[in-house]
Amino acid sequence: KMRWAVGIASAVALAALVMLSVGGREGERMGEGDKSSSLMGKVGSMLLEKSQKLWKDDANVDPSKKGPQEDQDALKRGFEKAMVDGDGSINFIKRLQDIWFVEDQIGSKKISQGAESVATRLQISGFPQDMRDAINADVDPCDDFYEFACGNYDATHQDIPKFKSSKSLSWDYADKMVRESETELFKTDPGPAGLYFRSCMDEDRVNSLGAKPLAPWLNLIDSVKDVSSLVHVVTELNKQDIDVLFSWYISSNPRDSSTKSFNVGPGSYSLPDKTYYTEDSDEMEGHRKKLVEVAAKFFKLVGREDAEKEAKMVLDLETRIAKYSTDRDKERHDHGKPITVEVLEQQTPSWPWRTWLQKLSSCTSPPDGSAKVCESDYPSLLEVGTDKGLVLLLRDEKYFDGLEQMLKDTSLEAIKAKLRWNVIKGAAVYLSADFIDVMVEYSKDLYGIQQKNPRPRKCYYSTTSDVAWPAAKLYVDKVFHVANRQAALEMLEGIRSRFLESLKKEGWMSPDDRLAAQSKLEKMFFQVAWPTDKDGKADWPVESRDLDGLLGSDYFSNYLLVNRKAVDRDFRKMNEAPKRRSWGGSTPTEVNAFYGPNNNGLWIPAGILQAPFFDASNPDARNYGSIGSVLGHEMTHGFDDSGREYDERGSLHDWWDKETVEKFKERSSCVARLFDSYSVAYRHVNGNLTLGEDMADAGGLKFSYQAFMAAKERQPEEKRVFFTAFAQTWCTVERKKGVLNQVLTDPHAPNKFRVLGALSQFAPFAEVFQCPRGSPMAPAERCDVW
Ligand SMILES: [Zn+2]
Repeated sequence: KMRWAVGIASAVALAALVMLSVGGREGERMGEGDKSSSLMGKVGSMLLEKSQKLWKDDANVDPSKKGPQEDQDALKRGFEKAMVDGDGSINFIKRLQDIWFVEDQIGSKKISQGAESVATRLQISGFPQDMRDAINADVDPCDDFYEFACGNYDATHQDIPKFKSSKSLSWDYADKMVRESETELFKTDPGPAGLYFRSCMDEDRVNSLGAKPLAPWLNLIDSVKDVSSLVHVVTELNKQDIDVLFSWYISSNPRDSSTKSFNVGPGSYSLPDKTYYTEDSDEMEGHRKKLVEVAAKFFKLVGREDAEKEAKMVLDLETRIAKYSTDRDKERHDHGKPITVEVLEQQTPSWPWRTWLQKLSSCTSPPDGSAKVCESDYPSLLEVGTDKGLVLLLRDEKYFDGLEQMLKDTSLEAIKAKLRWNVIKGAAVYLSADFIDVMVEYSKDLYGIQQKNPRPRKCYYSTTSDVAWPAAKLYVDKVFHVANRQAALEMLEGIRSRFLESLKKEGWMSPDDRLAAQSKLEKMFFQVAWPTDKDGKADWPVESRDLDGLLGSDYFSNYLLVNRKAVDRDFRKMNEAPKRRSWGGSTPTEVNAFYGPNNNGLWIPAGILQAPFFDASNPDARNYGSIGSVLGHEMTHGFDDSGREYDERGSLHDWWDKETVEKFKERSSCVARLFDSYSVAYRHVNGNLTLGEDMADAGGLKFSYQAFMAAKERQPEEKRVFFTAFAQTWCTVERKKGVLNQVLTDPHAPNKFRVLGALSQFAPFAEVFQCPRGSPMAPAERCDVW
């Protein structure tokens, strides 16, 4: 419980009483009878009793103020006055603390709590109304700051829309702002984004086609009769960005960020995590059963006769893929093993890798008879894994032993079932209502979602993910407040300078490593709002215009085309040096922010540079607490347990000496243990999976707070606003199934723990809220990395 470190001061207590001209009904005793149910009433009665006790000993008090005047309403009015009284309320809290202390002596706990709660209300009385609306002031900020900052939001937002698995105060609001303005633009935009959106909105057309658009692809899969035809079909699906038994992608080379790499990794499974396949529990068994049901329904919809049997084959094969894959927390540190094609062939001899690359490199016509997207073959693919070509990186080496086993003892029929499943599952949301209904059933089981998205909402997300760049350009050109970009850049520099100061003082690092870390931070580049070159000039990527003139009015054909185009782009650019400032998979409309370890850069999309994260008309304490902490979070990723492995150019190598690494591990394991100790829905958070994010949260909070404090002199209330805004970024209500999913799959801990974990480890928080040492939000021992 909260304890106030103040001594007794009857004069102050009296001053409060006089100011409020308080009285109460004679003879009413506190703690018993308790006629008044309102909080203010309770505190009023407490003050009455105290006043009688104190006045008896104080001859100087004006007799007219002593009498039992009136009732508690007078006191209530006094409190209300104090609450709207700005700075006056701060002083009032202090007086209240004194009174409470006296009261505590005589053991009236209930009253103490009442007074404490009033004190808490006074602490937030100057906050913006919408921040106050989310707060539950009956909760002690030192006990559970998440419940304090978000308790009322959570209590009043249990009505999660049926098509969602969670509701979030800040993220939903910003997302809605972007979505509504963009959707308006899509309705009339003559470019690819508008065309795509409107093709999606043409539900009648989509429904009238039924399963027809899938036919060419399913026929293609039917044609598989041996390994050679299987390789052909797999490459055709690969060109459509569909992976099957293994995955592959082109990215920067982690060990040399000035070059690219060709990565081959484990195959995909459908359920969210391998636990869903391997755990022997009723719950997980239920999910597996549902997967089989859903697959069987899809297979029936496309006319498969042995739908049930094939669906079981899918589960069996996916279970093996899951079992052979590395655990998520270990995968974070797998940077891929450089190998040659020969070695890959030895690793998995049953897959003809060279033939696969050869077929992948040829510019073929899509099996559905639509026009080619490619202009010519991609000969560079033939050089992958040789001296002349891109380095070949094997991700999750062990998986490929499993793949060899699977290829040897899995029937062609089972593999074909898996191909069909991957094609249908990926395409379902682009198809008619019967397919979408099955998808909803699947999401219901996994995430608790009850209903499909309203069509405009669905089409908005489909457009911004599939035609992301033309959509983003539209938003930045027409909606975004340009001034917010400059504000974010200034904030970033402020936070960076605090981080630099702090690095200079990190005693656990060797002096050389300290210097190298500063240099890395200084070289970190910022991409803010929209893509820019190194001189800060707008630099929109080719993706924002290369779909011009290619899209039509058929949703499914558009979907196939944009995916094929994405693969074609990667192949065509594979021999170009990576563009360090490229936005990769993210775009300016996202309500999110990113750090790229392989580039040592920060991406802060326009989508997040708006209320409630940032608003020029908000108190800057709120902006620092919210967007400032987000910016600091991304910056700290450069130095988290994974980011620290990359140097200032974004290349992987040991740039720290052994001792610094040891000390870092010692410090970071404290954070991992802290998060291991949190659990939700009967499952523990995996502190090793969430370590990078948890460290980023801690650093983001610290350096944003320092920047906020350095900017000018701060009042106590501003500090409280800062921390509350930080916490309110994460107010969320979530369906239970969604939470379970998150604990097993998400490198971010559940939001509540992000708040508790970061704030409880940050000493200034406890000072500002006067949390006694040893209270939940102010533990005696703290973890400290950066
Ligand atoms: Zn992060």
